[in-house]
Parts: sequence; C-alpha cells; structure tokens
Amino acid sequence: MLIRELDIPDDIIRFYEDSGIKELYPPQAEAVDKGLLERKNLLAAIPTASGKTLLAELAMLKAIRNGGKALYIVPLRALASEKFDRFRELAPFGIKVGISTGDFDSRDEWLGANDIIVATSEKTDSLLRNGTSWMEEVNTIVVDEVHLLDSKNRGPTLEVTMTKLMRLNPESQIIALSATVGNAREMADWLDAELVLSEWRPTDLHEGIFFGEAINFLGNQKKIERRDKDNATNLVLDTLIEGGQCLVFESSRRNCAGFAKSASNKVVKLLDRDVRGKLVQMADGVESTGETDTAKVLANCIRKGVAFHHAGLNSSHRKIVEDGFRQNLIKVISSTPTLAAGLNLPARRVIIRNYRRFDSNFGMQPIPVLEYKQMAGRAGRPHLDPYGESVLLAKEYAEFEQLLENYVEADPEDIWSKLGTENALRTHVLSTIVNGFASDRAELMEFMGATFFAFQQDTWSLEDVIDDCIGFLADNAMIVKDETPESISLSSTQLGKLVSMLYIDPMSGAKIVDGLKKAINITDLTLLHLICSTPDMRQLYMRSSDYIMINDFVMSHSDDFIEIPSQFKQTDYEWFLGEVKTAMLLDEWISEIPADDITQHFNVGEGDIHALADTAEWLMHATTKLAELIGVKYSSYARGLEKRIHYGASPELMELVGIRGVGRVRARKLYKAGFVSLAELKKADYSILSKLVGPNVAANILSNIGVRVKKQVDKSTPINSNTL
Ligand code: ADP
Repeated sequence: MLIRELDIPDDIIRFYEDSGIKELYPPQAEAVDKGLLERKNLLAAIPTASGKTLLAELAMLKAIRNGGKALYIVPLRALASEKFDRFRELAPFGIKVGISTGDFDSRDEWLGANDIIVATSEKTDSLLRNGTSWMEEVNTIVVDEVHLLDSKNRGPTLEVTMTKLMRLNPESQIIALSATVGNAREMADWLDAELVLSEWRPTDLHEGIFFGEAINFLGNQKKIERRDKDNATNLVLDTLIEGGQCLVFESSRRNCAGFAKSASNKVVKLLDRDVRGKLVQMADGVESTGETDTAKVLANCIRKGVAFHHAGLNSSHRKIVEDGFRQNLIKVISSTPTLAAGLNLPARRVIIRNYRRFDSNFGMQPIPVLEYKQMAGRAGRPHLDPYGESVLLAKEYAEFEQLLENYVEADPEDIWSKLGTENALRTHVLSTIVNGFASDRAELMEFMGATFFAFQQDTWSLEDVIDDCIGFLADNAMIVKDETPESISLSSTQLGKLVSMLYIDPMSGAKIVDGLKKAINITDLTLLHLICSTPDMRQLYMRSSDYIMINDFVMSHSDDFIEIPSQFKQTDYEWFLGEVKTAMLLDEWISEIPADDITQHFNVGEGDIHALADTAEWLMHATTKLAELIGVKYSSYARGLEKRIHYGASPELMELVGIRGVGRVRARKLYKAGFVSLAELKKADYSILSKLVGPNVAANILSNIGVRVKKQVDKSTPINSNTL
C-alpha cells in the first residue's frame, strides 16, 4: 500500500514521501485496512522498529486536521522527550506539540494550546486528578508500550488511567501499541479494538545461541574466532570487524561497568584515528560534567569506544552515551535492561550475556520470554544493517537446549493485570471518588468492572480488595462513607482531595499526617525520615555491614525520630533502619556533601542520588501542603527543606542557588568569598568574580542577575557597569 493512496491530506503525503517513506510496511497496511484512518480503535502488537510511531502519527494528523487533539502516553520520561522531538518535526503542518512530565500537582492548563501532548502515564493520571480542562478535548489517545499493564509498579496506574480516559471521552479513538504478547487478542477485546498482530520486521532477525565455538542459529552456524578468553568479548569483536555495533545486556550495574572495562581494551585496537579523536572529546565531556568515580570509569571506557548505560548514571551522561552510539562512535554499550524498555537504539548484534536477574524473593531467576524478545528485538538497524543478530550464551549442551526451548523457540507470555491488590488499588479508589467517576459503592464497583483486571478475572475478588481500600480511606478521614439501606455513598474530604491531587499513595498521606500530629520537636532528620517511611519512597537496600553503623546513628539521634520501633520487633526494626539509611543519604545531599562521597557512603550511582532527591522533593512538597491543611506549625520548615532538597544545599545558599548558572558547588565558592546574597553579588566586581568562577561563567551570572556586562574596547574581557 502506497502512502499516496491513503485518505490523508496531500501535504502530509508529500512530507512522508520526502522523508523516504513511500510504501507502508505490511503491519501498517493491515492497520489502515482495519480502520486506522476511520477512527477505529486499534491494538498493534508488532515488533520493535516495525513502524508503530508512523501508525500513531497518521491517525493523529488526520484527527487534528479535523479539529481534534491527541494525547500520546509513554512509560518513561526519556521516551517522552524522544517522541516530543519527533513530533516537533510535524511543525510545518502547523501542528503544535507539548510535553508534560513535570510536577505532579500542577494542571498544566497551558498545554491545552497544543495539538499533540506527550505525557507519561503517571503524569496523565495526575492531570486527570487535577481536573485539567483540555483532557476533555482529547479525541485521539495513543498508548505506547501498553504491555506494561503487566508491570507490578507501573501497570495499575496505566490501567486505571486508560479506563478513566475511555469513560471521559467515549468517542475517542484509542491506538494501543504493544510488543508481541501471548494474549494480544484479549487486550484488543478489552479496548474494543481491531487487532494487528504480526512478527514482521523491516530487518531480518536471526536469533541464536553461542555454544562451543559458534553461534547456533536455527538452521545454520557461524564460527566465531577466539581472540579473547571471554566469549562475549569475542562476539563483540567479531561484530565490529564486520562493521556493526553491539548492545550487551547484563544482569547488574556492576557487571555492565566490568564488561565495558575489560572489552574496551580489545575494542580500542579496532578503532581508527579519526574515531579515537572524537571519542577523546566525548570522554572529556563526561569527565568535566561528573563529580564521581563512575564518571571517570565511563570516560575511560568511552575513550576506547565502549560505554555502559544504566539508571545509576546521571541523565547527561546517559544522553552522551546514547548520542555517541547513534553517531557510530561508541561501538559497544553494555547495559542493564533499561535500554530494551523502549529507547530507540538498535545495533547489529545484541548479546544477552546473562538471562538471569536477581529477585529479592527468589534469588537469581530466568527472565520472562517477553523481556528476552524485547532485548533480541533491538538487533538490526533498519536500512543500515543487512540483518540483526541476537545471541544468548550457553556453557553446556543442556543449557543450550534449555535456552533454545525456553527463549528462541518460545512464545511470549500472556500479560496479566496487576490491579488486584490493596497497595495497587488504594490510590485509584480514592482518585476515582475524588474525580466524580464514582459517588457510591455500586458506581465504584461498576467503574472497576471496566478495567482490564475485571475483563480478565472475576470481579468478586476485586470487591473484597476495594472494600478494604474504602475502609482504609474512611478510617484515615480521606473519604466519608454514608450507609443507607439502599446504597453506600462515598464522598471525599478536603484531606482526600489534597492527597489525590498531590499524587501520593493514601498510605503515605496517612503516615505523614500522623507523623506531623505526633511530632513534638522537629529537625531536618525528623522530616526526612518521615518521608522516607512512606511507601512512595524507594528505600535503600541494607547491606549486612550497614547494621551497626546505622544502629549507632539511630542511638545518637534518637530524639530526631518521631517513633522508633522496638528492636524486639525485628522485621519492623530492620525496615526502619532502611528508612533511616535513605534519610541519611538525603541529609548528606542537603548538607552539600560531594556526590562522589555520597555514592561511596551508600554504594549508589549519581543517577540514584538525583532520583531519590526528586522523589524526596515531591514528598516534602506533599508534607508542606498537608501540614498547611491540618494546621500544624511545620509547613514553613517543610517548605524550606523542599527547596534545599531541590538544590542539594544548606539554607544560607538558597538565594544564590536560585540564580541561573549557579549550582550548589559554585554557590558555596561565592559564599565563601563573601558574596553571601543576591544583593552582594550584584555589587560584585567582574574581575574578582571572574577569578573565582572563570570569565564566561562570571559574565553569565552577572547577566542572569540583571547586571549589564559590556565588552571592553581594548581587551576581550567583559566589564560590568560596577567597574566603570
Ligand atoms: P517502532 O515504534 O515500531 O519501534 P518506529 O516507528 O520508531 O518503530 O520506526 C522505526 C523506523 O522505521 C523509523 O525510522 C521510521 O521512520 C521508519 N519507518 C516507519 N515506517 C516506515 C515505512 N513504511 N517505510 C520506511 N521506513 C519506515
């Protein structure tokens, strides 16, 4: 089917033709045949790189031309930016694109001026909770990576959000994009959607298992020359010699860095001078923007053409690695499975070095087929590679046979709703009541009856869980339950509304309110620990060597904690120590301890510090708002901490860190030199400032605080009006 034959405006046809897309891929053609452009709901369960985005674009563009508005829901912030950048290329058609990934309690009404809005599922949920008005205008809803309904953490929010959107805008067209899963038909039926289910790929994928001296594909073998004692390294070198790039999936962050280090010593020998020169520049960029040891290790690997990628890296380093790989300068990335979860980074050969993953309940466990298929599916760059190869590694023949049966020849699993637990449902029961989707128990049950959970399983089990949630919310004064013989009416209280809008788990809300009421005297640590004790905070893992150190810390700071569980209740106490450890990290962060020291004290990556600080800032914000509502005196204290967590600095630096171009390290330098406030800085002499932070930064800072900076006539250094 040719693009030219589609029922879409000519200028849009020309745009795609000019970009090289003249003919639809078979699954795309099937989608059109099944009503994509006639506003039919559609579930496309097709492999990576088979053109799902184009499907969404065609439907969105057509709807927008007819006066509609589209919402594009993605699971990750990084993916939101990737899609946002792509859709901005549609600007020549007057298409306005917005992205919404920010604070959870804002309505982002300004986004309503856009035609396409890209948002994460959590942000979409929060926009619905906050009553964002443009949500009602949305008439095309795209849900990317919809198989994540199966995820324990993210699935329930996605599921309830989709259910709400379908209720709010029953006329909208839903386009759900999924990896190939076992029960795609069932998902499509839930969505009342046509199904496009296909294994078609633009580049062939050869799935194989390395065993002995060769990769064994179905039907043929490829011998791999032994250049190193490590087989995965040999596979990497083989790919590079043939002109391809490699993605290596590892089970842990430590292994990622370990493999990158060892492989880089071999890879470097295959690089030409030009590439090496560019890599050195890239590595210098990493080193100059990182405070940590990890940054140094990463930079050393990049110099030799290899990188590692995981959630412990800070976001600018992740971006450098991704861009470097796309430019074909970085030849190999070793990664935890985050990269398989959607980022568009294909490679000639994917090596799955370890198919087991650590599970806190069961130890090392084999990964699901769905995850294997997603990793394998990264192999083969469309239009660039003749084919893609994915390789598992087996040590023995028995393992080879198992891998063949359990992965290469296996079908992906069915996906299952994870909505059926109190932990998953509590927050959604509250928001459903707050937002008027249900005003009594019967309506609530009816709403929940429209979820994928209810579609897959009997609702009676859900009823019990929902009743437990209602009980919890009523006991904690978030809803009022009014029983009459005919019905049980449910209405939200001010507290319930606030908790829903703040986008925190009602359990977190209850814990914070309870803590604030009980606290007699508070310190930084009191409030930091309070937020770390909520289920919305991901606690740090306790290592056996931590116990004594954290226990001693608790003893010497016992007045700072609202409540310390008895040491006889061993599980509670151990859990408490994990919360304290997390609070200690945050305390170091706001006390300006260098990131490198924090990563060493707590055995975390720089990216983890930022992720924890982000969550902590949001929960401290919630604490501020809850303290205001219940009328305790700690709201301004919490507000101060919120800001300190944002900047990672002490109170006296708050004025300085608020200036653009001044981070916590520079602010401290300025403060030490006597520039303790904005007013002092405004009076600063350029030459002194320039000695402190360098000429460019000094000029930047001065211009950012409204001090005019002029270029001197005879010298190239600028002067500010204060020096004149
Ligand atoms: P997916 O979302 O399924 O992983 P994408 O939509 O990102 O895949 O598409 C992968 C690449 O294929 C993109 O670069 C896209 O421009 C290109 N592409 C999509 N459809 C076609 C087509 N019909 N002809 C040629 N290239 C296409």
